[in-house]
Amino acid sequence: MVGENSKEAYSSGLANLATALTNWRDSSNGTRRGPQVRFPRFKGKRTGLSCRFTTGAFGITDDRRHVKLPRIGTVRTHESTRKLARHVERGTARIRSATVSHRSGRWFCSFSVEITRTDPAPARPGKVVGVDLGVKALVALSTGEVIPNPRLLDGALRELRRLRRQAARRTGPNRHTARTPSNRWRKTQGRIARLHARVANTRRDGLHKLTTRLVREFGTIVLEDLNVSGMLRNRCLARHVADVGMRELRRQICYKSVWGAARLVIADRWYPSSKTCSDCGAVKAKLPLRVRVYNCDECGLVLDRDLNAARNLVALVGEAAGSTSAASCAGTVNKPDGNPRQTHAVWAAGTATGRPGHGRANATPQGDGYRAERADVRSRLR
Ligand SMILES: [Zn+2]
Repeated sequence: MVGENSKEAYSSGLANLATALTNWRDSSNGTRRGPQVRFPRFKGKRTGLSCRFTTGAFGITDDRRHVKLPRIGTVRTHESTRKLARHVERGTARIRSATVSHRSGRWFCSFSVEITRTDPAPARPGKVVGVDLGVKALVALSTGEVIPNPRLLDGALRELRRLRRQAARRTGPNRHTARTPSNRWRKTQGRIARLHARVANTRRDGLHKLTTRLVREFGTIVLEDLNVSGMLRNRCLARHVADVGMRELRRQICYKSVWGAARLVIADRWYPSSKTCSDCGAVKAKLPLRVRVYNCDECGLVLDRDLNAARNLVALVGEAAGSTSAASCAGTVNKPDGNPRQTHAVWAAGTATGRPGHGRANATPQGDGYRAERADVRSRLR
């Protein structure tokens, strides 16, 4: 009831709608960059509850175990708020807003924070690493290290199948007959959602650990510009490609490289990193995905397919680093379709929200490690 709720519950919903409408209008005008933004969708009470607090008394408590929220009061958190608390105590962070949201059966509180980060510079600044993304191996590094694909979704599929079968036997909603779902059906849906969330969380955790390690260690990271949305359209590959989280991996490296002042180089989409011999430079016309070992016809090199690709990516930067203008660097010519190939040396430009910007559009080298960033620090509520 009004009076019992925070006024922010209403105003944040309307503010979100206003932003969505502005984005839609600017996008249709052509004044907004990026993909076309469509008219905002209706957000009912079942599409995920969330509320953003910008005024009133909110924040973290001194015991680092609770968050304060207006109207709601003090709530115990499942995770410790230690990291954010230390920043606040030191005066390097200022909490601007708190968002409470409900997702897959759990309540979250995220803080939007203005923060001064001091990320360590890469341990080996002169070292270049090529990162080949794949499905067989999650990542193959040019150093010879191969990180296997954990195939998290595959591991959960058995349980997922069981739960979906269970849901199918229970009374779900029917729009035509206006039948409301049974409580038992809702319960099963909740279990399915929790299982999906668990898979997604585990995946994100693994990617964060991997990308942080890469950025902390190597001065230059070379990635491929993969057409992930194209790969997701292939129905034989889609589930496995999605299970890897390739786009998320690139997104994380993109913004973390800015924080740690590492250089990120994105190889052109048409660069045949897998088909090229990393030893003599010969390019094969075809190399099916099932061929796991690269076998060079010219020099007789025998090397793991992904490792070969990763080494090619490193070689690309060796050439790019020598040139003064890092904007473009031509590799070898792609014979089959003759596409002109470019390599973008990207100082991924982060935005105020900590999200990676259009890296190739404007290069902003950040020399010092001190930067004001807004980052979302999320703590799970109990
Ligand atoms: Zn060769």
